[in-house]
Amino acid sequence: MAQVINTDNSNVRTILTGDRPTGRLHLGHFVGSLKSRVQLQEKHRQFILVADMQALTDNNGNPAKVRENVLEVVTDYLAVGIDPQRTTICLQSALPAISELAMLYLNFTTVARLERNPTIRSEIVHRGFERSVPAGFLCYPVSQAADITAFDADLVPVGEDQAPLIELANEIVTRVNNQSGKSTLKNMEGLYSETPRLPGVDGKSKMSKSSSNSITLGSSPEEIRAAVRQMYTDPKHIRVSDPGTVEGNVVFSFLDAFDQDKNEVDALKEHYRAGGLGDMVLKRRLEDLLQSLLEPIREQRKRFAADPEYVLSVLRTGTEKSRDVTSETLCRVRKDLGHFIL
Ligand code: ATP
Ligand code: MG
Repeated sequence: MAQVINTDNSNVRTILTGDRPTGRLHLGHFVGSLKSRVQLQEKHRQFILVADMQALTDNNGNPAKVRENVLEVVTDYLAVGIDPQRTTICLQSALPAISELAMLYLNFTTVARLERNPTIRSEIVHRGFERSVPAGFLCYPVSQAADITAFDADLVPVGEDQAPLIELANEIVTRVNNQSGKSTLKNMEGLYSETPRLPGVDGKSKMSKSSSNSITLGSSPEEIRAAVRQMYTDPKHIRVSDPGTVEGNVVFSFLDAFDQDKNEVDALKEHYRAGGLGDMVLKRRLEDLLQSLLEPIREQRKRFAADPEYVLSVLRTGTEKSRDVTSETLCRVRKDLGHFIL
């Protein structure tokens, strides 16, 4: 299902993506979505939403974590090259039209449909919610449909875990349009990078902020080294001469994601399978790649982190601009659906 980024930018698309301020952004964000956003901002109309309301759906008891990570996430955007002149960065909680749209959309889906969503199902298991899943968490895909449609976005560069959520958002769009009898909302398309799911360093699940299995974009050289050293490889590959398994081997997943020399990676895989190639050689190669990728990002990050007033002003300006866009959508939806408007 991975789809290579379409760099044919002949027609301008409206893009909406976002991240939950639940921690620092990591390499999974970088290859899954941030890298595409940096490219896409050149030719398209791009909005990035810091989804702090969504973050509360599973962090309600820890508002400080969400609050403290808002500017951290914006700092990460700036560090990787998101340019506020080209991309509008905004804050979900300061855009009430999104919450109002979400409230309306809740009536365009069912509890059964939300409970069937495979991403939600696995996140419920991962977070140990069982039957005490907060209602807000079960419904966050509806609020995500509101995020995307509020900006009239038609392209959403995301990781693989988001595919079922985009499907649901498109269902809601179709139902709203069927009821209004007009093209009130636009359908959207997910844009998946060549690495739609980067595993965590432990190899157990996707790299994510809520598992301690990530390499954040601001990692120090020592942290990068330690993370690569502890990466899961093949437990049966004990002696260098033993044949090794490439599938499920995190080091190879990372080389696939970060090594530009695809022929060399293929040769290394062959050598590893045959035996005679040690994990340390591969890990050293990967570490060098990650050190050179993250060094400039870390330096930029330090620069922006030293100027929190600037980071805040970027978010304020972007949010102001987004307020008009999202309010207009809400008015249109309510008018098209024939609601009473005071
Ligand atoms: P949390 O654990 O709090 O849910 P997260 O690490 O999953 O955090 P999100 O803010 O939920 O990050 O995701 C933001 C975007 O990054 C989404 O488009 C998601 O698909 C993408 N993304 C997150 N992790 C990865 C990954 N490991 N590989 C590829 N894309 C990813
Ligand atoms: Mg997530």
